Amino acid sequence: MPTYDDQNIFAKILRGEIPCFKVYEDAETLCFMDINPRTDGHCLVIPKTPCRNMLDASPAQLAACMRTVNKVSTACMQAFGADGISLMQFNEAAGGQEVFHLHFHIHPRHDGVPLRAPGQPGDMGAIKGHAEAINAALS
Ligand code: AMP
Repeated sequence: MPTYDDQNIFAKILRGEIPCFKVYEDAETLCFMDINPRTDGHCLVIPKTPCRNMLDASPAQLAACMRTVNKVSTACMQAFGADGISLMQFNEAAGGQEVFHLHFHIHPRHDGVPLRAPGQPGDMGAIKGHAEAINAALS
């Protein structure tokens, strides 16, 4: 497996070199909005320490991410009046991964509403509002 490249876009977000719509952070993880949202509230949970994906992640990195996934998903259920959550995670290019820093996609879901196509830029004002709604449900 290739080694971790610290020039990936999520590493740049962690270093504050590019902006994000932050939803939540703790000592070990960061959650921010996906800018190409496949659902309203589509957000990403990442560890603050480097690893490419689930295959090279430590048990501690995975546990920390799952704690944050659980917390943010619960908030998303409330914030969006969701009926469920889809949790997605891809490993290496063959597995559908495009950004090589471990991340978990959280998708609030509503009965009968399909995911939107991938790679479609969202409305930045709407995404900001969704981040604020999740953040409010967390507090
Ligand atoms: P994947 O690696 O296939 O799990 O997908 C990477 C995800 O990162 C995609 O859903 C992109 O829309 C998302 N993404 C890429 N660049 C950014 C960014 N600067 N801020 C937030 N999300 C991003």
